[in-house]
Amino acid sequence: MLCSSFEPLLDEYVDGVLAPRDHALVAAHVVDCANCAGLLEELRVIDALLLTPRTLDPAPNFTFKVMAEVRSQPAPAVHRIPTLPVISAYLAFAWTAIALFFFFARNAADGALGTVRAGFAHGLDGFNGLAVATGHLFGPHLTSVTALMFGLLVVDAFAALAIFGFIYIRRSGDPRSAS
Ligand SMILES: [Zn+2]
Repeated sequence: MLCSSFEPLLDEYVDGVLAPRDHALVAAHVVDCANCAGLLEELRVIDALLLTPRTLDPAPNFTFKVMAEVRSQPAPAVHRIPTLPVISAYLAFAWTAIALFFFFARNAADGALGTVRAGFAHGLDGFNGLAVATGHLFGPHLTSVTALMFGLLVVDAFAALAIFGFIYIRRSGDPRSAS
């Protein structure tokens, strides 16, 4: 038989799925045929390569090289938000806003002040007073603006109180001011 009739069978021969008669024919042929024996060897190598689990191992000095590369890079600039200046600027802005609020909406400010003073027990009344007083200023956005201003006032009042308290504690802890 010619090689051309065996070559299509070699793949199945390697896989061991040929009928016993064909298998025997191919086996007998490749003993004498260097060409088909060569093809058979190539198929076996390819099959072995395909079946071998391939794991990609990093180079032995991989970690060292990466870390050396990292060290050679310029240090990233750490962008830190300066906390105290930001808080100070916020408070300055907030109290300016509150001052303007007092100036332009006196009644509303009085309501807010009364609310803060009376505490949360009468908070709702103060809130309603605020709403009425600021109605002519903000029209349809009345409720949200009032709530915002009220929240701002409460937060800023607490912040200012905390800062004054902090200063007071530091002063009273100073023996020079104890007299
Ligand atoms: Zn052959």
